[in-house]
Amino acid sequence: MDYQQILENIYQEIKPYTSVGQQADYIPALAKINPDQFGMCIHTIQGETFKYGEATTNFSIQSISKVFSLAMCLSLEGDSLWKRVGKEPSGTAFNSLVQLEAEKGIPRNPFINAGAIVMTDILLNHLKHPEEEYLRFVRAVSGNSQTNYNKEVAMSERENGYLNASIANLLKYHRNIDNDIERVLRFYFLQCSIEMSCYDLSQAFLPFANHKQTFSFEGITLTASQVKRINAIMQTCGFYDEAGEFSYLVGLPGKSGVGGGIAAVYPQRYSVAVWSPRLNRKGNSVMGIKALELLTTQTQESIF
Ligand code: GLU
Repeated sequence: MDYQQILENIYQEIKPYTSVGQQADYIPALAKINPDQFGMCIHTIQGETFKYGEATTNFSIQSISKVFSLAMCLSLEGDSLWKRVGKEPSGTAFNSLVQLEAEKGIPRNPFINAGAIVMTDILLNHLKHPEEEYLRFVRAVSGNSQTNYNKEVAMSERENGYLNASIANLLKYHRNIDNDIERVLRFYFLQCSIEMSCYDLSQAFLPFANHKQTFSFEGITLTASQVKRINAIMQTCGFYDEAGEFSYLVGLPGKSGVGGGIAAVYPQRYSVAVWSPRLNRKGNSVMGIKALELLTTQTQESIF
């Protein structure tokens, strides 16, 4: 398969969408980014790499970090995690309070904000040096020792994070948060602020594509079956209330973030990351979704 040629064809086809959509601006630090950027990178499980555009430019991975948090929580907490968070698509916005209230403080899944805030609480219960250990794990899966938090983005989000603070308070009211709320939010926003390029992100998702290999990084180990299940949750819950649409258009498990990134996997074949900051109304990258739709259409490869 000539993935390099396919990446070039994809860009030619999606160019007309360059100025469609808006970058996230509810986090002031993200509003400053040049929205007219596009990068894409594929890593195959045979070890080949194909990249296009701004594939080595760092961006804010935001909710894509929720996949790393889930991997750590499953390894550290095991199946008792599922007493505190569900596995169903939410069908509501990533930061919705309504559903959380109706369902008495049990978030629908680990990939909406409420679910990730609960996972952050679980990580705080298990880790002695949470910020350092989290980063060490992400650096190990991405293979890049320079991967880091962007403290300015984290602070900017904390200063404006009224809705996430409400979610954390509601969770605490329902006794689904053990630690101090401020401590939990601080760590949650730091996870979201991690910066990676498409190249690094795609590398970091390769172990999820290659789920029959042992998953073991910095003491975080998962069985093949646990990795398979993380992929299943990506498939059903990875795109806010657009998970069905993404499944329909693209047909790969993946996770998006409001920084404009999307990481996806084709199990046993490749991992892919794409980034373009302009988002649609559901919070997903316009060019990112288009690019992945074309990838699975042109290659005629998808899990379906
Ligand atoms: N830090 C963002 C928030 O909590 C993450 C949202 C996202 O990427 O979905 O609002």
